[in-house]
Amino acid sequence: MNRYRYCPCCGSPLEEFPIAGALRLTCADMRCGWVFWDNPVPIVAAIIQCEDRDGAVLLARNAAWEEGKFALVTGFLERHEDPAEAVVREVREETALEALEVALVGLYPFERKNELILAYHVRARGEIVLNEELAEFRLIPPDQLKAWDFGTGLAVRDWLAGRRG
Ligand SMILES: [Zn+2]
Repeated sequence: MNRYRYCPCCGSPLEEFPIAGALRLTCADMRCGWVFWDNPVPIVAAIIQCEDRDGAVLLARNAAWEEGKFALVTGFLERHEDPAEAVVREVREETALEALEVALVGLYPFERKNELILAYHVRARGEIVLNEELAEFRLIPPDQLKAWDFGTGLAVRDWLAGRRG
């Protein structure tokens, strides 16, 4: 994990100081008072179901990931963006698919990456064209889809349970 060593506001060294129940990196200059809160970053994730591929679910491999690793399409929110709009935009940017319907699946803390995943089910249509962030994709029929037990896989698990329930 990258750690700040100097205050990004004033350049003073940082020291660990107990604030609000945890040790936090805090600016040594009391007049500055900058604190590294290390709060989780929200990201949107899409369980994309392709209308014109018999409802197959799209999993993608990020260009930075090793071979064989696939997960949901994810992305950051822009300032002032509604999460449901952000997921539609990310699906369009990363896969060129057009979202027809968006439904919240759930919220999933992902501690290892210090993220909060906002997971949506997205019914989509169109021709799949990946952008440079993604290396390859797989289309998996929902009845063959297997959830993984971390990160966006927990949203897949819940979505599958809802379909079968
Ligand atoms: Zn400072």
